[in-house]
Amino acid sequence: MAVDRVRIEAAVAEILAAIGEDPARPGLRATPRRVAESYGELFAGLAVDPVDHLRDAIPVGPHTGELVLLRDIAFRSVCEHHLLPFLGIAHLAYVPNERVVGLGKLPAVVDTIAARPQMQERLTEEIAEALQIGLAPLGVLVVLDAVHGCVTARGSRQTASSTVTMASRGSLAEPVKRAEIMALIGSGR
Ligand code: ZN
Repeated sequence: MAVDRVRIEAAVAEILAAIGEDPARPGLRATPRRVAESYGELFAGLAVDPVDHLRDAIPVGPHTGELVLLRDIAFRSVCEHHLLPFLGIAHLAYVPNERVVGLGKLPAVVDTIAARPQMQERLTEEIAEALQIGLAPLGVLVVLDAVHGCVTARGSRQTASSTVTMASRGSLAEPVKRAEIMALIGSGR
């Protein structure tokens, strides 16, 4: 189900009134509609199964054993505690077993799961789980590095602070393998 824009518009007009603003003044008149549109985009992933992006994975025969690493996938999400955006980059690694997928499909998985009210920790886990279910690989490692609006713009206002989270499955849960991939992620910078 797509988000209910009419309800969002009414709620935003109510918030504007509640902060002591005049929702009818020219600068704010179109704001409820604009916010409803942007929420439609920010939460579009609620209506999509991320594993669908991996349905056309290509058989490559058993146990290639070689790593696939996609670095620096830009993503944006919305923290579920404050409804403020968090922005970052994702690094996705997997060791194929019998299937690989077009590289463009991996950012689509990230986009879909990020377009929901989220916590970075759960977002990381859900990406790893979608790759595990969709590709049945020998191992998965997901690393997210993000800056949170609720940390930079309010509360402690730590504008330089970013949060790194990690989730792994199978062979890439081993510390030695993980360290190797972390070195690859950081190499050439
Ligand atoms: Zn927050």
